[in-house]
Amino acid sequence: MTQFASIVDEFRQIWPYIFAGDLARYLIGAGSVFLLIWVLFRSRLAARKIRGITPPAGQIWREIGYSLVTVCIFATVGTSIGIGSMHGLFRVYTDISLYGWPYLVGSVVAMIVVQDAYFYWVHRLMHRVPLLWKVHATHHRSHNPTPWTAYAFDPGEALIHALFMPMFVAVVPMHVGGLFAFTAHMMLRNAIGHCGYELFPKGWADRPILGLVTMVTHHDMHHEHAPRNFGLYFTWWDRLMGTEHPEYRARTKLMTPDNGMPDSLKGAYASQAGAESRAGESLEVIALSGWGANEEGR
Ligand SMILES: [Zn+2]
Ligand SMILES: [Zn+2]
Repeated sequence: MTQFASIVDEFRQIWPYIFAGDLARYLIGAGSVFLLIWVLFRSRLAARKIRGITPPAGQIWREIGYSLVTVCIFATVGTSIGIGSMHGLFRVYTDISLYGWPYLVGSVVAMIVVQDAYFYWVHRLMHRVPLLWKVHATHHRSHNPTPWTAYAFDPGEALIHALFMPMFVAVVPMHVGGLFAFTAHMMLRNAIGHCGYELFPKGWADRPILGLVTMVTHHDMHHEHAPRNFGLYFTWWDRLMGTEHPEYRARTKLMTPDNGMPDSLKGAYASQAGAESRAGESLEVIALSGWGANEEGR
């Protein structure tokens, strides 16, 4: 058997397992956030609902459809990492004693911080470059997100996000358990970030250290007010680059969907029903209308 044929054979054997793991992560991650927040604690969290309107069921089915394609792409890249590691291409290891526990924990934290930077900049590019926006627009069809929006990407965007991991493990040694922790955190933060209910304490965004972690409102406002709030887990890139939404902190102090909103936002939220049905063209104008917070137009 040629080396190429043997790699194809390895790929065929490993892919279904990686796919099952990626699928389980999406279904368990998004599903448990949906079950807890949208079903079990729905009435108790009513005052925490970020938008007055609940997205239609059709949106959720569309999001799950796109997410299944994303899972296939993540599984393909994940399988490539697994096979590449076996052939010495990537620095994934299984023996913890090789680098020790402090390294394992530190490497997971480092991977999260670096992914946040990667996400911020590719995300800004996707809002800046018309060709990339066409790819990213699929995610923004969910103007009012749900936990299932977490993986609702065009295949091209899914690939852009998936490529972060092989680039990282080509350079930084990662324990296989550390990669599991990284992907579990990614899934959970994504599902929570799109859940539509503010779960963080009031005023969190103003706290000196804790405020560097994005609240649910942060990404929710991105879906509504792009191009602002490009960050994924942390606020520092948006604050450093001047792209944080100017109403973000005020909104998180008041929190409730309709009656506690700053006056400057009331008009926008009141017309949400109209905004939900905005055509792709006008969404494009919103999404591409600025590179930096202070820029007018592109
Ligand atoms: Zn976006
Ligand atoms: Zn999103």
